[in-house]
Amino acid sequence: MKALRERILRDGKSLPGGILKVDSFINHQMDPNLMRQVAVEFIRRFASERITKVITIEASGIAPAVMLGLLLDVPVVFAKKKKPSTMQGMLTTRVRSFTKQLDYDVVVSAEYLGADDRVLFVDDFLANGNAACGIADLCRQAGCTLVGMGFIIEKEFQHGREQIHSLGLDLRIESLAIVESLDGCGIKLK
Ligand code: 5GP
Repeated sequence: MKALRERILRDGKSLPGGILKVDSFINHQMDPNLMRQVAVEFIRRFASERITKVITIEASGIAPAVMLGLLLDVPVVFAKKKKPSTMQGMLTTRVRSFTKQLDYDVVVSAEYLGADDRVLFVDDFLANGNAACGIADLCRQAGCTLVGMGFIIEKEFQHGREQIHSLGLDLRIESLAIVESLDGCGIKLK
């Protein structure tokens, strides 16, 4: 995705601790046109997967997930970081936050993930893979089929892909931009 790569190099900021700040087009201010291009590219890459539902984690995964759900005409579920008092049939898993360095519970209602569902997880970043593994656990509990994971940006040097593969699941992982290094406050893309 040339447009995404160019945008990361132009507007992304490499922060200490291996964090890439993309607040001007993904994480705070959003560029809907870029999000649409991201969704179109995910659809191209997962075209053979017969996706019935998109899942993400609040908050920053919601924008690409909704764009994808809109174009695929399928529902979008977002796992919540706080348990709502009204939620029934709650499935829960514990996830370590990369940016905040603390553990939190992620919940989703079993009502919205059925055994017939073929689910695609999308998120803004793949870092250590903790959020992705949490979602895989929720899908396992729900009994739905997790067919793939799509990330806008993967930070390869944090090895999230290996962590997901270590779950031994048969799923496809696609990242639209892969960061090789953020050393010295630079941004090196693959
Ligand atoms: P993981 O669970 O793979 O370690 O981290 C993924 C989650 O942490 C993503 O949902 C994303 O919100 C956040 N995250 C990880 N790395 C970065 C980063 O470099 N920049 C930003 N903005 N968020 C990140």
